Amino acid sequence: MPAIDFATGLKCKVCGKLYAKQPLNFCTDDFGPLEVVYDYEAIAAHISRAKIEMRPFNMWRYRELLPLDGEPTVGPQVGGTPLIKADRLADALGVERLWIKNDAVNFPTLSFKDRVVSVALSKAREFGFRTVGCASTGNLANSVAANAASSGLEAYIFVPHTLERAKILGTSIYGPKLILVEGTYDQVNRLCSQVALKYGWGMVNVNLRPFYAEGSKTVGFEIAEQLGWRTPSHVVSPMAGGSLIGKIHKAFHELEQVGLIAPGSSAKVKMYGAQATGCNPITDAVKTGRERHKPVKTPNTICKSLAIGDPADGYFAAKLIRDTGGWAEDVSDPEIVECMQLLARTEGIFAETAGGVTVAVTRKLIEQGRIPRDEEIVLVITGNGLKTQDAIADSVEQPVTIKPSMDAFESILAEPAPALA
Ligand SMILES: *Cc1c(COP(=O)(O)O)cnc(C)c1O
Ligand SMILES: [Zn+2]
Repeated sequence: MPAIDFATGLKCKVCGKLYAKQPLNFCTDDFGPLEVVYDYEAIAAHISRAKIEMRPFNMWRYRELLPLDGEPTVGPQVGGTPLIKADRLADALGVERLWIKNDAVNFPTLSFKDRVVSVALSKAREFGFRTVGCASTGNLANSVAANAASSGLEAYIFVPHTLERAKILGTSIYGPKLILVEGTYDQVNRLCSQVALKYGWGMVNVNLRPFYAEGSKTVGFEIAEQLGWRTPSHVVSPMAGGSLIGKIHKAFHELEQVGLIAPGSSAKVKMYGAQATGCNPITDAVKTGRERHKPVKTPNTICKSLAIGDPADGYFAAKLIRDTGGWAEDVSDPEIVECMQLLARTEGIFAETAGGVTVAVTRKLIEQGRIPRDEEIVLVITGNGLKTQDAIADSVEQPVTIKPSMDAFESILAEPAPALA
């Protein structure tokens, strides 16, 4: 066994009870969620910035902080996405320093879910699962299907029947068993949990969830390294189940614990959560000061990827946002569409509806004075716009069609352009 295994077990986030590493996502005493624990002292003694920088630029360069016993066998090329200095969007929003972490171009299925899936499925193979699956709002379905196909695993994938066509096709193409369930995501998830239990399959966001969730930390590791081994002041992240936002912050904290970034830097990062108003259980909890979110029974928004009415990590996400001094907001469907276009027109990035949510919420928080205009901000863009084309189809300017002649071309110029001399 290669010397990369620093994960010592699982721990209940509520009562602290320890468990051996196993496919289990809740404490048998109090049903609290389980989280992977690591030997940070051993990791600190083992890694350095130089060692990491010599490795290929993908998420596995931080493998000591990921919960595999051996080498990754699924998705060895995932991660390593660009962090872009977004000066044109910064101008449009009236802020000084803005960055975009662009996971819309993650390999292989164009969303940050490839990160969580490569960890979960590599772990599933270590546990000996031959059949895997998930409950999904779309991107997870795409990623589980693709990564299961490339590693020869059988996959059962459960999604709400109202999912976007591109996300259905972008799952079916890989040949999994895709099941459209006539219900909300929460109903889909309940069914998937029952299936996992009865058939003993490895469901990435059910019984493999503690391992799956760790993959999201690599977004935070990469942001810190790409900024030159330091943290930004403000991070805006979309929230569905509420896991990603917490793992980005945990990543900063871990880098500090193992000595890769300056002590005290993670405590200075304020985390901001973004949702659509049509499904806003976590942002509502933050804004109303409620400790526990009120589940949204019937989500109603074009942003289906974030439409989880009863988020598994909602409580922890709201707590983290409050504890870091950040805030949360939600935005309407028209604002989502407007900001998908704003991002595309200022930065040349075609993000999915969740990206529109993140940009629109950032704009709102800046206007509210919650995020100061002169401090460094990172937006986390998590999915690709080619998967949610219907959302903007009626809003973008329609192209003109002309006959193949100069006359026809010049007839459509509003003002004649000066010809070359
Ligand atoms: C799943 C997903 C998220 C949020 O993930 P959670 O960890 O469940 O909060 C954000 N953006 C996109 C595009 C997603 O598919
Ligand atoms: Zn417990």
